[in-house]
Amino acid sequence: MSATSTSSGATIIDGNALSAQLRADVMRRAQALKARGITPGLAVVLVGDNPASQVYVRNKVKACADAGLHSVLERYEADMTEAALLARIDALNKDPSIHGILVQLPVPKHIDANKVIEAIAPEKDVDGFHIASAGALMVGQPGFLPCTPYGCMKMLESISYDLRGKHAVVIGRSNIVGKPMAMLLLQKNATVTICHSGTKDLKAMTLQADVIVAAVGKVNVLTTDMVKPGAVVIDVGMNRNDQGKLCGDVDYEGVRAVAGAITPVPGGVGPMTITMLLVNTLESAERLL
Ligand code: NAP
Repeated sequence: MSATSTSSGATIIDGNALSAQLRADVMRRAQALKARGITPGLAVVLVGDNPASQVYVRNKVKACADAGLHSVLERYEADMTEAALLARIDALNKDPSIHGILVQLPVPKHIDANKVIEAIAPEKDVDGFHIASAGALMVGQPGFLPCTPYGCMKMLESISYDLRGKHAVVIGRSNIVGKPMAMLLLQKNATVTICHSGTKDLKAMTLQADVIVAAVGKVNVLTTDMVKPGAVVIDVGMNRNDQGKLCGDVDYEGVRAVAGAITPVPGGVGPMTITMLLVNTLESAERLL
């Protein structure tokens, strides 16, 4: 079970439970690949000592190990040159034991992140950030989907939500979350509105929505008065509240009383993002069959 109904009415879409199901499938498929001589492998590259990045890469490497995937973590000092990083990516592109390459962002300021992303071979771009991946998504061709929006779509699928003809409002337009999220919703025949910091009346938009995806990075961007009763609310945000507690963009306690379904933070989109990274890495290796 990855979704539970509560006395408040809203279905809670449990990202941990759904992740466990999907990771069990990854493990099964990885074993089948191993039996045919291929061990799916992910390379995680970290430059510098950003504390949040260190936690993220540790979690990704651990998730690989738990699912039976091979992973290598390459750590470099913050003063690594751009040329040296590009050379490492080139070597990983050519390494047959590696099926996915992830460079943890942000990279230090003297390194051009776009250049780094574009250096990754599109067939190993398991983060889905390469322009080839973004372009494939835009025109509806197969390619790697960015892990966070991909995970959000899986969450909607887990409650059998039919997006056809629904109005979806995405708050946020980043290249890694908001924009690809909007494209995926559009592919499923939702009518999509994208909001951002220049949106004049956010509440007027969200009140029309059957589905709201909040991907801003600010506490309480979405409050109860902004949500139509029964709407599905996906909270991508990862913030700290005044008490230092991890929370999303949504006023969870208030909104769950009116929403039809909602994702919690923590335990919602966060675990799904890592899960979809495992899925992408596995599928990259499966393409070799
Ligand atoms: P980002 O690049 O900073 O983008 C934030 C977006 O929010 C921008 O498009 C911005 O508009 C918009 N925005 C800012 N203030 C707004 C407001 N008051 N009303 C409406 N829109 C507003 O962030 P991101 O990388 O997309 O990430 C968004 C959040 O998701 C962050 O909290 C991040 O930590 C979290 N996140 C979580 C996961 C996960 O696995 N759970 C993964 C990725 C990201 P403009 O474009 O006009 O500036």
